[in-house]
Amino acid sequence: MRVGIIGGGAAGLAAALELTNRGHCAEVFEAAPFLGGQASTFEVGGGQLERGYHHLFVSDTDMVELINELGLGDSLEWLESRVGLFYDGRIWDFATPLDLLRFSPLPLAQRIRLGVWTFLLQKTRNWRRFEGVTAAEWTRRHMGDAAYRVIWEPMLRGKFGDYYDQVSMTWLWGKIYLRVASRKRMQKERLGYPMCSFGTVFDVCGERIAEQGGRVHTGARVQRINIAGGAATGFTATVGGGPEQDYEYDAVIATTPSYIFTRLVPELPDAYRAVLESAQYLAAVLVILVLDRPLTSKYWLNVADRSLPFVGIIEHTNMIDRILYGGNHIVYLTNYPDRSSELYRKEPAELLEEYLPHLRRINPHFSRDWIIEYHHHRVDGAQPIIGVNYGDRIPDHRTPFQSLYLANTTQIYPEDRGTNYSVRMGRQVARMVMGDANG
Ligand SMILES: Cc1cc2nc3c(=O)[nH]c(=O)nc-3n(C[C@H](O)[C@H](O)[C@H](O)COP(=O)(O)OP(=O)(O)OC[C@H]3O[C@@H](n4cnc5c(N)ncnc54)[C@H](O)[C@@H]3O)c2cc1C
Repeated sequence: MRVGIIGGGAAGLAAALELTNRGHCAEVFEAAPFLGGQASTFEVGGGQLERGYHHLFVSDTDMVELINELGLGDSLEWLESRVGLFYDGRIWDFATPLDLLRFSPLPLAQRIRLGVWTFLLQKTRNWRRFEGVTAAEWTRRHMGDAAYRVIWEPMLRGKFGDYYDQVSMTWLWGKIYLRVASRKRMQKERLGYPMCSFGTVFDVCGERIAEQGGRVHTGARVQRINIAGGAATGFTATVGGGPEQDYEYDAVIATTPSYIFTRLVPELPDAYRAVLESAQYLAAVLVILVLDRPLTSKYWLNVADRSLPFVGIIEHTNMIDRILYGGNHIVYLTNYPDRSSELYRKEPAELLEEYLPHLRRINPHFSRDWIIEYHHHRVDGAQPIIGVNYGDRIPDHRTPFQSLYLANTTQIYPEDRGTNYSVRMGRQVARMVMGDANG
């Protein structure tokens, strides 16, 4: 078979790898000048750094398998993560049950209640029971008003902005249930990171696809998917800024966000289009500071104080050896805004100026001359909003057109989006394509 794949992120590359592993020809078109999509990297201090912070949980077995299959297993390390919570003007340790017991902003009874329910969530496999209730409602009812106000509401507002009270409890269950797999009883969590970087994993994946007879194009934007007789026949694309050209395939797999896919196929029937259009996404906006010294001692710092203009501080070099980045310290300041928001549109320098004064609240010694350089990235389609009863609204991978398939992050459920699930989905959809072709 000849299969055209739109998107060179985790899903598109995994699909192409699976197809070429089984002797088929897969051709990947990636609009950006690099592979890896949301998990792509750029150069900092001589090393490759993710545009958005990335790590793996122990439960991310499909990514681990991919890394091993590509011969990069030796570069995968499992490291202790140091997690904190910024609340009431200070950083609290927030990694173990003991840390929770010591978290004095909540009355002791509330801490115990929070701990018991968190433990029960970690042990609950049946996520379907959370489908019909929002995380806001559930946490307030079960964990109490104070825990909701101090921990969950700021977290949900930070991650989902104005949609904070619409997010399903299934989403929060996924975060808590899967995260615990990265932690042994009463021990600190370990997170995985390929020391060669996520970008390199996906570059090597692209090389493997090419060695197996596939092709991978970057700077290659698909303009429309061509439909004839109720089936996809291929697509029209520009490669390297050249003229539009038609490419013919036996099947097409699109891995773009839904709002791009609907533009690529104007002929989509109304019912399927409506499902796709009901999917809402938030973008991610990242300011990355390259510092000459550490800002905090934490890898992951949740900011439970909405007077700060960012929702998380991920100090990458508090988990990954800074030697990889020329000895510099790397700090991500993160937000998940709507693409129509002012924050999304802000110029990098303006955003930096807005953020800087607040860093002194995190570390009173912080001074702007610690900054060696900074970077700014916007990642569109970063976080689908998972509302209540979301399971009923997931679009099928098989679209209404024969030989046209969709595999994007809105179809990952009940887990939250992540490289692991895109890899798993990309491989599954590739197998679906091969199965359908065999009748
Ligand atoms: C800030 C941030 C932090 C994250 N942290 C983690 C983490 O710690 N661990 C983890 O596992 N995951 C993490 N993720 C999530 C993970 O990166 C994504 O879920 C995953 O990479 C998505 O892969 P994908 O292939 O499904 O989609 P994408 O990576 O979005 O790939 C889709 C590709 O399609 C391309 N495209 C779009 N339109 C066209 C077109 N017309 N023609 C050609 N190409 C097109 C895009 O350029 C893109 O490369 C994070 C994401 C963000 C934003």
